[in-house]
Amino acid sequence: MTRQCYVVAIDGPSGTGKSSTAKEIARRLGIDYLDTGAMYRALSLKASRAGIAASDAVGLGELARTLDLLFPQPGQVLLDGEDVSKEIRTPEISARVSTDCAHASVREVLVDRQRRYAQGRSCALDGRDVGTVVFPDAKFKFYVDCDPRVRAKRRVAELSSMGVVADFDEVLANLVERDRLDSTRAVGPLRRAGDAIVVDTSHLTFHEQVERILSVVRSGI
Ligand code: C5P
Repeated sequence: MTRQCYVVAIDGPSGTGKSSTAKEIARRLGIDYLDTGAMYRALSLKASRAGIAASDAVGLGELARTLDLLFPQPGQVLLDGEDVSKEIRTPEISARVSTDCAHASVREVLVDRQRRYAQGRSCALDGRDVGTVVFPDAKFKFYVDCDPRVRAKRRVAELSSMGVVADFDEVLANLVERDRLDSTRAVGPLRRAGDAIVVDTSHLTFHEQVERILSVVRSGI
């Protein structure tokens, strides 16, 4: 019997552990994984290097159309053949990405790419608008939330494990500001899909949050 392809959409604010969770879920289910935030971050990195301003909707839209992006393995991002997996996570890129990606010219190109990526395969995707805009008919939808201070603490630890030294207050301020920008933009704002299951990870271990989502998906496939 052939199994139908399915999408696991995992949305939520910055730093809730969505990416690590989605990656682990994909691994455990034997399906593909796409970090949609990494696509927007790669665009910001390229724009920053090219001197394109975050207010330049036309320039950023053009850049999005020609973005040469590859994901050879979960967590790895190649931009124009260069491994930028670390560079896209620096505080500089985090500070501009939400402004860059708010333009309709950018979102329509990258949303289309995300839909094409999932064609004919089962996959888990994490982001802000996966369950609301990219795949409103996704079989599984989750909205992962978490206390901002817990998120900032986890993000500092994650950056530190990547060799990036970050200040807690700066990271917290960036998370809060990105949440504000992401949830108030006109196109594809961050919001919970009405049919998404909410998972609050403030008091959950990584293992518990993965198991909670996995049990729902396993019982539905
Ligand atoms: O998930 P991550 O924090 O890496 O995403 C970086 C930024 O990319 C977010 O703050 C948001 O501005 C943007 N993003 C988005 N839509 C998505 C994924 C990420 O607007 N689906």
